[in-house]
Amino acid sequence: MYPHSGVLPPQHANTPGLRSASHGVCRALPTLLATALLAACSTTPLPPWPSVRKVPPPKPPQAVVVPAPLGQPLAVPPATAPSPALPAGQPAALGNVLDNAAVAARFPDPAVRYHTPGLAAQRSAFTTNAELAQWLRDLAAGPLPAGTQAALLALGPSQGAEPIHALVLTRAPGTDPNSLAESQRPTVLLIGQQHGDEPAGSEALLVMAQELLRGPLAPLLERINVILVPRANPDGAQAGTRNTANGIDLNRDHLLLRTPEARALAALVRDYRPLLVLDAHEYPAAGDYLEKLNALPRYDALLQYATTANMPEFVTKAAQEWYHEPMVKALQAQGLSSDWYHTPATSPAGALRMAMGRALPDNARNANGLKNAVSLVVATRGISLGHRHIQRRVHTHVTALTNALRSTAERADKLEQVREFVDRDTTALACHGQVVLEAGPTPLDRNTTALDPNTGADRTLAVPWDSALQLRTLQSRPRPCGYWLAPSATMAVERLTLLGLQVLRVAEPGGVLVDSFRAADAAASTQPDARAAITLVRSAIDVPAGSFYVPLNQPLAHLAVAALEPGTPVSYTSHGLIESLSDTARVMSTPSLIFEEME
Ligand SMILES: [Zn+2]
Repeated sequence: MYPHSGVLPPQHANTPGLRSASHGVCRALPTLLATALLAACSTTPLPPWPSVRKVPPPKPPQAVVVPAPLGQPLAVPPATAPSPALPAGQPAALGNVLDNAAVAARFPDPAVRYHTPGLAAQRSAFTTNAELAQWLRDLAAGPLPAGTQAALLALGPSQGAEPIHALVLTRAPGTDPNSLAESQRPTVLLIGQQHGDEPAGSEALLVMAQELLRGPLAPLLERINVILVPRANPDGAQAGTRNTANGIDLNRDHLLLRTPEARALAALVRDYRPLLVLDAHEYPAAGDYLEKLNALPRYDALLQYATTANMPEFVTKAAQEWYHEPMVKALQAQGLSSDWYHTPATSPAGALRMAMGRALPDNARNANGLKNAVSLVVATRGISLGHRHIQRRVHTHVTALTNALRSTAERADKLEQVREFVDRDTTALACHGQVVLEAGPTPLDRNTTALDPNTGADRTLAVPWDSALQLRTLQSRPRPCGYWLAPSATMAVERLTLLGLQVLRVAEPGGVLVDSFRAADAAASTQPDARAAITLVRSAIDVPAGSFYVPLNQPLAHLAVAALEPGTPVSYTSHGLIESLSDTARVMSTPSLIFEEME
């Protein structure tokens, strides 16, 4: 470690009103400040949104021909053993429902057939961890198409000492992060089976890997790099359980990083900075729908992009217009249905609601969104189905993911433009305006369609709908310039660094202007629901050498806010990664401190 010229780039301290509420257009500048600030402001001009709606579909600038459908044509119609439909009106038991021919008839096999170890005829188990590793090793070993590089990375191990594999596919000269970054091609990350009891995503990613290297998707690598993590939770897959070995849900761990599985994915994203992250899940084929509504979900796929506080507007727009809308159409073209991700939920007052995917920044969808990636979850109707309808479930994933890869290939330049703008715009927000600490869904009147568990017929459900597409601010505070952390907060610093945040170490003692946190009730101060118990106290404090500073003038600033504002459900103070409220403070003007390099 050595001191360096550690004064941070200038921030617009104490100039509220500098930016408009949207897009950072500079206006209403106080005259004396105007000249000095204009240069800084103009570094984040608002690019015109490259609309895909008003322009007729452009001829592809570079012809990348990707034939569809995928898989191999099905020679013989699948043999299904029909069981009699249950008479209408009978209470539905799970086993009966899943084998009910009238319901099954709504989900016929696709016209293609996919082949992986776990999809072989007569198999009762899905692809094992050993088979998955062998499949990826065989693919990476070649033969590879001319110019294509394939590297199998060992990200793990998992808690159960299983390897977590990532397959990097590129036409760049190398497979390391620098080679991909210099390739002028956007990188896409596909994640499968964060939940061990959701096998279709994993099987689909094995198919995708094969199609990208030896099949009809290979031309896409002329325009994009692809990284596949087919099985993020190998222990859960082996046990057939949702969670990781220590009981933590991997897909609630992408901010706190308590599991080695989440840390492995975080390091991969930090190093490769994908522009698009697709997270393949399954959702219960009966579950709460059957228990609470005596109905069955009817959609092949539930889809949702990142919906959390402080999501950059352009990333959301790209997710909606460039990915979600074309994906819905691609699924329709294959006879596959989709809806927004949702699950029946019960409000604290006991009322039934349909809740879209959560707004907290702890799942992969939202955490990657706050890393300024377009981030979507695709969940197929699959949990508890075993091998039932597995070809259709895999086909649903392959169709949706292929469409997203194609969208990325067609819009590579525009995606880079959005990322560049959003990185700069987020950086420039430091010290200004308000930042949202917590957001919640907006209640809507929106009917959903379900299936009758006895007859398989459509049934309209009029259940209040909680939309995550329009988030309401539940809690906000003035946006600081950064966060100060005590020398003892090394665990938090390690996690923030893994998330890709820049953390600086204070080399020499100095003074900073801060808002400190005070808890009305000391016992409640580190509880997730402590928001009412925390007040802010403005003062100048001396900070010691060896303490830390997390500046907000950096592209991933909103991840720092999600982790470091106390009193939110997934903050580092709420979960003991920062022991005491006095170990952190909000820095309210650009500090003049000397920093040193972190090892
Ligand atoms: Zn899942």
